[in-house]
Amino acid sequence: MESSPDPLKALYAFYAAKGLPVNMHIDLTYECPLNCVHCFAKGSESVHPALMDTRMVKGLLDQAADLGVLEVVFSGGEPLLRKDLWELVEYARQLRFVVRLKTSGIYLRSQDIDFMASLGLVWVDISLHGGRPETHDAVTRVPGSFDKAMAAILDLHKAGIRVQVNSSALRFNYQEVPELQARFHDMGIGNGITMWVMPSETKGEAPQAYAMEHDAFVHVSLAMLQKNGGHPPHTDGYDLSEPLCYAGRSAMHVGPDGLVHPCVAWPVVAGDLKQQGLREIWFDSPLFKRIRSWFMRDRVQCKTCNLFGYCNFCPGRAFQATGDSLMPYPDACTTAQWTREAYEQFFGSAPDAPGKGPKDR
Ligand code: SF4
Ligand code: SF4
Repeated sequence: MESSPDPLKALYAFYAAKGLPVNMHIDLTYECPLNCVHCFAKGSESVHPALMDTRMVKGLLDQAADLGVLEVVFSGGEPLLRKDLWELVEYARQLRFVVRLKTSGIYLRSQDIDFMASLGLVWVDISLHGGRPETHDAVTRVPGSFDKAMAAILDLHKAGIRVQVNSSALRFNYQEVPELQARFHDMGIGNGITMWVMPSETKGEAPQAYAMEHDAFVHVSLAMLQKNGGHPPHTDGYDLSEPLCYAGRSAMHVGPDGLVHPCVAWPVVAGDLKQQGLREIWFDSPLFKRIRSWFMRDRVQCKTCNLFGYCNFCPGRAFQATGDSLMPYPDACTTAQWTREAYEQFFGSAPDAPGKGPKDR
């Protein structure tokens, strides 16, 4: 399926082919001032007290530089709650990483923006979940959060800092999201829509209750096709010799507690930085080795599926839903069917789009 152009994509593929990590996502805290209805995050430090301290995060950055990582993402929770955040950002820039900061934007001060601009190559991701204050604030459950996020986006853009505005399309905001994203597109600001709600380890099914249902999902899918154009699905099939995704191949995630995972969406542990070095975890972890041995053809129950080309399969979500990272899960199968419907409405037809290549494993 068509996705928006990403200049890092070729670099990721190049690194993945060499078995090197290009991207490291580090969550610095569990705490967040927002309380988003659909958030999967684990909650507070009173439940998870053992955070990496400044010295440990700097040591991790040293090891990541040694390993050849190019891009570091600082996230949380809300990373601006860390008193040492700007010290860590500056240290990461001294090590020549591209730094991305994922924040709600509500604590960003003008001096922080000036500081980021002075460092160069610090990019910011901000979430905005509605075109009207009351919609976004209903998602975050914090009055005034829309105004603060919007001000931060505009100030960052004005300062010449690359901003990406991400919106989750949910059951009650989906009609506003495509237009909101188009507005940022027209302003030259990066934008993206998340169509799925991640399961939560600690909140049960509560976030899932906000996921879009059929009509909403087709509506947003059609809006995205109208905006991005795209190609009809390949009728000659999708290459089954491709890796599942970048997780564990050219990207990894480190939790606030120093545990290393393939991706924030894939809650399996490859190693513990309190006991092991990053190089040892990256190259020797049995989990990472296993993930790197998996290709699309190893999704045994998917490889003959006629919805393969419409499906946004995520091994992390598969693991959370079924306990097996290669198994189909209901959310993927349902939304693949809905995506097919959107394609049919947009292109006039939606042919079968199976996998191709060796199916004998
Ligand atoms: S497909 Fe899932 S596990 Fe893989 S990178 Fe994307 S979110 Fe992470
Ligand atoms: S729709 Fe379901 S069975 Fe088909 S490829 Fe996706 S996850 Fe697999």
